Amino acid sequence: MKANNGLEVVDFNLLICPACGGSALQVDEAQVVCSGCGKAYRKEPGKVFFTEEYFDVDNWEGKSSEFDLFKRESFVPKRPDKIGGPRIKDLRSMLKVTGVALNLGGGADSYEGFTNIDLGRYPNVHIVSSLQNIPYKDASVDLVVSNSVLEHIYDYKSVIEEIYRVLKPGGYLYLSVPNLCMRHHEYDYHRWTMPGLVELLGEFELVDHGFCRGVAYSIDTLMEALIVHKTQPGFFRESLRRIWSFVGRPFYWIDGDNSPEYAAMSQTIYAIVRKQEE
Ligand SMILES: [Zn+2]
Repeated sequence: MKANNGLEVVDFNLLICPACGGSALQVDEAQVVCSGCGKAYRKEPGKVFFTEEYFDVDNWEGKSSEFDLFKRESFVPKRPDKIGGPRIKDLRSMLKVTGVALNLGGGADSYEGFTNIDLGRYPNVHIVSSLQNIPYKDASVDLVVSNSVLEHIYDYKSVIEEIYRVLKPGGYLYLSVPNLCMRHHEYDYHRWTMPGLVELLGEFELVDHGFCRGVAYSIDTLMEALIVHKTQPGFFRESLRRIWSFVGRPFYWIDGDNSPEYAAMSQTIYAIVRKQEE
């Protein structure tokens, strides 16, 4: 399968067996077999399974609905699209990346020119795999994106080590993480401040950092969650939610900035880093 830019969506020459690390893989229509250890990995149209421990999409999405915020009745507030920093779809051209780009844990998100790797069996995912054992060769990837994923992985440091391993020297990582964001899933373990994020990426060279979702998102979602938490389902709750979605709207008009103070109040923050040339 080829993407619009002519690159294979999955270049099997770059893959390794996650069980033994071997790179001699035999690929056919139905499976990928490791010549080193003999392990066979199942294929489906457009997908290869490097683990059978994946989750089904409904199972994962269903776990968010255990939180009251998501028990919406009729009204789903339309939040303004005021995202700070670069957009993922623009990263390839912005960073002048022409080679392999991976989107790790993006779920249903899909961007042109990216190979999607996820532990979930989403329709658009090309490689079903743990992010703690990425089936790519050392120094084989030019760009890695991970957008609000790390908080769902308890041992997130192992993911950063894997990203460092698969990136080429000079390759880039775009990482966004929650800073001041309510818990939003059964498996939601971590938050980072900007200094914590920069320290986590200390092996890399820092290229850019800032907020993705600013203060308005923090205030808006927390207030809505509090309304839902402290009221019964019904007319009163739904009226309050509508009133809040109107009253809270002006917070979105406040422009974000790149100060440490603004980052400290933001819902999600990001950093772009580069693996140093040897
Ligand atoms: Zn193997």
